[in-house]
Amino acid sequence: MDPSELKKIQIAVDGYSACGKSTLAKGLAGRLGYIHIDSGAMYRAVTLFAIQENIIADGKINKNLLIRKLPEISIKFRLDNDNNPITYLNEVNVEDKIREIEVSDFVSEISAIPEVRHKMVAIQQKMGENKGIVMDGRDIGTVVFPDAELKIFLIADINVRTQRRYNELKSKGYDVDFEVVKENLMQRDKFDMSRSESPLRQADDAMVFDNSDITKEEQLEKAYKLALSIIENEN
Ligand code: C5P
Repeated sequence: MDPSELKKIQIAVDGYSACGKSTLAKGLAGRLGYIHIDSGAMYRAVTLFAIQENIIADGKINKNLLIRKLPEISIKFRLDNDNNPITYLNEVNVEDKIREIEVSDFVSEISAIPEVRHKMVAIQQKMGENKGIVMDGRDIGTVVFPDAELKIFLIADINVRTQRRYNELKSKGYDVDFEVVKENLMQRDKFDMSRSESPLRQADDAMVFDNSDITKEEQLEKAYKLALSIIENEN
């Protein structure tokens, strides 16, 4: 049975920083014929906007100014030739820029601002209203799609996660330090878990996947089988 022709479901993939959420979500969406949305890219795009508009200066965020300027922010995803979603901020391709360490350093503080979250969550819920979507982030199973038919919560050892993010940044030509990358991941997790507005936490009905010792192919296979069994049950 081709899952893209059956009644569709929503799939939420949440978890800590650099756990491979986007890799799993992308693979799953590809095999199911679903849309994949990386919600972290949206918070990163808002952060890049704040940097470009000097809303962040001397390490400080002018939150009131950002809130006033929120209506000026448009975030879209367009598929490239290999079917990868590319993030556009006000019609400019920012896919590479939003992954830079300067953005990573401020994104958790920016994403803790309630007005920012309200705007992003509304866009995300609109994207998922027709289902057939795999969205990854921190609050997808708890806030964005609380009724998602499948919720996965990813965890992995911090050194494994750091090594993966370090390799990714190095392969893109960035001159990064392992300890700096590790510190950024730990700081973001701490911040994301302790904020008052939709903190990072496992939904009560989420399936936990620890991928410290399994390959991405094994993980994808496991998630795909699980999704198929839920989809078949729904039809
Ligand atoms: O997924 P990624 O690491 O790119 O996300 C960047 C940051 O965006 C996270 O550290 C978190 O602060 C924020 N985020 C969030 N809610 C989401 C997705 C990301 O707060 N749904």
